[in-house]
Amino acid sequence: MHDYGFATRAIHAGQDPDPATGAVIVPIYQTSTFAQEDIGVHKGYEYARSGNPTRSALETAIAALENGAYGLAFASGLAAETTVILALLKSGDHILCGDDVYGGTYRLLMRVFDDKGIKASFVDTSDPNKVAAALRPETRLIWLETPTNPWLKLADIAAIASLARERDVLTLVDNTFASPTCQRPLELGADIALHSATKYLGGHSDVVGGAIVTSNQDVYERLKFVQNAAGGVPGPFDSWLVLRGLKTLSVRMRQHGENALAVARFLQEHPAVERVMYPGLPEHPQHQLARRQMHGYSGMVSCIVRGGEAAARSMVRGTRLFTLAESLGGVESLIEVPAAMTHASVAGSDLEVPGGLVRLSVGIEDIDDLIADLQQALGS
Ligand SMILES: *Cc1c(COP(=O)(O)O)cnc(C)c1O
Repeated sequence: MHDYGFATRAIHAGQDPDPATGAVIVPIYQTSTFAQEDIGVHKGYEYARSGNPTRSALETAIAALENGAYGLAFASGLAAETTVILALLKSGDHILCGDDVYGGTYRLLMRVFDDKGIKASFVDTSDPNKVAAALRPETRLIWLETPTNPWLKLADIAAIASLARERDVLTLVDNTFASPTCQRPLELGADIALHSATKYLGGHSDVVGGAIVTSNQDVYERLKFVQNAAGGVPGPFDSWLVLRGLKTLSVRMRQHGENALAVARFLQEHPAVERVMYPGLPEHPQHQLARRQMHGYSGMVSCIVRGGEAAARSMVRGTRLFTLAESLGGVESLIEVPAAMTHASVAGSDLEVPGGLVRLSVGIEDIDDLIADLQQALGS
């Protein structure tokens, strides 16, 4: 499968016709247990927490898309994150994390693992020198999100992974915002790529899921052990929905990127908007890095509107096509005010987001309709 192109792998990797029936699409194996011919003699599946054929297909497919050796699927992105921390860290260890990460990641580190002795600190990962300077002797893992949420800053994955490797530190990239279409962290030297499959992988806002890909066998075995031992696995139907989503990932991402660039350009010109963040804009301070490490710039756009939180609230109330909602990565366009919604859990911390920041998940509707909607919401 690794010889085939990305779009081909998305449709075929792990997805051969069903050996039992010839079904072209991987069936939903809605079963919790599997018959054994004799004690311990079975077809590779015993109990569905340990393994289920629908989930296995998804795990193979996502590994092929990230160009990694091993894939693991989870019940949510946060279940995947929890598994990483439980499997790879112990009390006294330190995680060096980006200072602009998903709010739920921050909450997990600070309100679940901190008092268990696994410590995290936060650094601006857009500068590899700052990352190097913030490493501690007990740092075991660097946790990157790139592009970040909601500022859409980039981290130089290759540079950071290489300085981490020199110090025997693992590098994880939460690749949710880019999707493997636009960015493949393992190819750039990272050890682990992690996803909220709820977003672009699923792509239709109808499932919550998570995934991890690695080529490091030791890391895989530890993750696989905790996946089964702690049990944060997705059910067969949820696995199937993500698998179905993957088939169209390539074409969706192409359109998300095209629409997002048009939206970013429109917002840039609009007098009510102070600043636009989108890695695909030549004006983005790290556009050269984006061109080097990304293949397309995905569908997330952030902007700061003039007039602070009141103006941001009025904009998101005014859209008709852009639905006011948390989450991202679906075919439909969403809009939100992170300070009051997705990032409410970081209020009061260094990660706090200004009230005037609006985040858009640009969908794949007709671009003229999207722009007209934003135009009327901004009141001109
Ligand atoms: C949504 C999200 C998560 C968490 O994933 P869930 O599927 O909601 O548990 C993690 N990281 C990023 C970047 C996300 O957007």
